[in-house]
Amino acid sequence: MSEIIDVAQIFGADVFDESTMRQKLPKEVFRKLKATMNSNKELDNSTAESVAAAMKDWAVEKGATHFTHWFQPMTNITAEKHDSFIAPTGDGTVIMEFSGKELVKGEPDASSFPSGGIRATFEARGYTAWDPTSYAFIKDGTLYIPTAFCSYTGEALDKKTPLLRSMDALSEQGLRILRLFGNSTSKRVVATVGAEQEYFLIDKSVYEKRKDLIYTGRTLFGAPPLKGQEMDDHYFGAINSRVHAYMRDLDNSLWRLGVMSKTEHNEVAPAQHEMAPIFTSANAAADQNQLTMEVMQKTALRHGMVCLLHEKPFDGVNGSGKHDNWALSTDDGQNLLNPGKSPMENVQFLTFLAAVIKGVDEYPELLRLSVATAGNDHRLGGNEAPPAIISVFLGEELDAVVEALINGGTVPKKSADLDLGVLALPHFKKDTTDRNRTSPFAFTGNKFEFRSVGSSHNVATANIILNTIVAEELRQFADELEFAAAADGEAFSRPAFEKALHELLVRTFKEHRRILFNGNAYDEAWLDEAERRGLPNLVSSVDAIPHFEDEKSMKLFTSHKVFTEREIHARTEILLENYYKTINIEAHTAVDMVKHQYAPAVMAYAKFLCDAAMSKRSVGVDAVSELDAAQNVTKLENAMIAECAELDRLLGETSGLSDVKETAVFFHDKVLAKMNDVRAVVDELEAFVGGEFWPVPTYGDILFSVK
Ligand code: ADP
Ligand code: MG
Repeated sequence: MSEIIDVAQIFGADVFDESTMRQKLPKEVFRKLKATMNSNKELDNSTAESVAAAMKDWAVEKGATHFTHWFQPMTNITAEKHDSFIAPTGDGTVIMEFSGKELVKGEPDASSFPSGGIRATFEARGYTAWDPTSYAFIKDGTLYIPTAFCSYTGEALDKKTPLLRSMDALSEQGLRILRLFGNSTSKRVVATVGAEQEYFLIDKSVYEKRKDLIYTGRTLFGAPPLKGQEMDDHYFGAINSRVHAYMRDLDNSLWRLGVMSKTEHNEVAPAQHEMAPIFTSANAAADQNQLTMEVMQKTALRHGMVCLLHEKPFDGVNGSGKHDNWALSTDDGQNLLNPGKSPMENVQFLTFLAAVIKGVDEYPELLRLSVATAGNDHRLGGNEAPPAIISVFLGEELDAVVEALINGGTVPKKSADLDLGVLALPHFKKDTTDRNRTSPFAFTGNKFEFRSVGSSHNVATANIILNTIVAEELRQFADELEFAAAADGEAFSRPAFEKALHELLVRTFKEHRRILFNGNAYDEAWLDEAERRGLPNLVSSVDAIPHFEDEKSMKLFTSHKVFTEREIHARTEILLENYYKTINIEAHTAVDMVKHQYAPAVMAYAKFLCDAAMSKRSVGVDAVSELDAAQNVTKLENAMIAECAELDRLLGETSGLSDVKETAVFFHDKVLAKMNDVRAVVDELEAFVGGEFWPVPTYGDILFSVK
């Protein structure tokens, strides 16, 4: 029996959101807080005290006893340290207290979060600072306060701080462009994000029998299942009742937390699913996606399942990504990537479009490294996920517009409004039908969809890069256009502006046309074609990550105050460290599984065959097949042990490496390659060894475990 859920009633029930604030805060305090949220101004002490008191009362009323400053260190997960509200009164009793100071600033002893050497250990303290632009919420009896995490020397030690900085940069430059187009009212340009989340659900019982899943999140071994995704029968297929119950439960939890979970469906691979939320500001979207991942995993456990967020849990089976839908909006609600109704709106749209295209073409390495992790490397470039080559898909109709601009305005005319003086641009409809699922960066009607982001990633990373590169291009555009428009003795000459804009657009599309690709990006031929066009193909994370420190990117980030040089060096180091530490854990797990699971199982099976052969022979029966099988299995067993010993030896060698980059390269070139060799033999053995001898659940067992 299903209970009736009043969605409007539960939505945001556990969030200190705008309507709650309006209810709980004195008018003046609410007004000041809103102003802070909209303009990133600082909040004065007395307002902070007042907000803290109201927040605490609300939280305590809802059963909360603790509060935490919730932050996003430079891993892909979130961190929290809980303090209770209790304060002694002096007569042995306690009261629930929460001060403005506690709301605004926290000091987690966070010396063991990755800092890439920024925070020397003697100066271990970093501090967390309340981010009033993301709502506080209650989860598991604790009031969660979204915060930024910095060192005392002011460096960002998290993902939120640079994301907020990149949003400021984007807003500043975006507004300059809007002003040129005569918009004098918008106060802010906001990056909006909707992060679609793919995941696998498997039964807890099979999960618990796979050390690789437990320690690394992916299977390090496993032959292809008898049935995979070849029938295309899972995508959008009927959702089974266990999964259905899970999705309902997930929605309820997410709704209470103010996450607008909107769409759920089965994905391409068996056991794979997707959740899409309704988009919001990039900052809130990043927070919400982190929450979503956590709630997905906890909810699964309640249903006797495990939610896998790894990018490639199963070799040969579709991996999981996180489509980062990204657009720009004004604070008064205009989507700047929405082709408008009037020609002028269209020209403004084309200006923002040109900035995005130019940004992607000039900084493809940065986009690539924003999604570079050991896990995602298994996915990018497979015939299921976008390739490591970054290109932009526009769709036929928009492509025709761009081509027409480049070639001087002979557009296939769909309507007559082509009369904007020199800016003879066509009116065009947004293209919502033409979908290219193979492109890493696709225009989908009124937003871009960056599909290379991995399912376990914090979307902040990709959006920091996107925001910053587009801010830079908008800055260049604004510099050029403002200068040109101040002509003919006027502060702003409309004809001069239009002429300069036309030139700028034509030139930009011409110069960056090579990044546009509407074809099949999974096709082998695209590799050659992309190379001819001079587009980088940074196949692995170790190829991509070091580009963070290129002079070009240093200049980009420092000039927009998104990262300092020191922060870039620190982050590069952390990314490389995360990369090789991941492979290190995987390799040790692989060795352990071979030694303690596969080898004993294979030996037992060989013995079983030999015993069978002996007993047959003892009664004069021919035992050719038993002996053949025993020979074969023994040969593979020896190969497996030898490859595993070699992997073990390579791991021993890594202790002699000190340079981070060198270590990452070694893990990529040697350790990962050897893991693949070990795996190849084990997977081959899987086909020979008797089912009841095989020590772990197979791909078939796992992928079809949720019944
Ligand atoms: P599609 O069919 O292209 O996947 P949807 O409308 O289903 O389009 O949206 C997919 C995701 O894109 C959703 O998470 C949605 O909220 C998000 N999205 C839609 N519009 C925008 C926008 N302007 N900015 C950011 N994300 C958006
Ligand atoms: Mg999509």
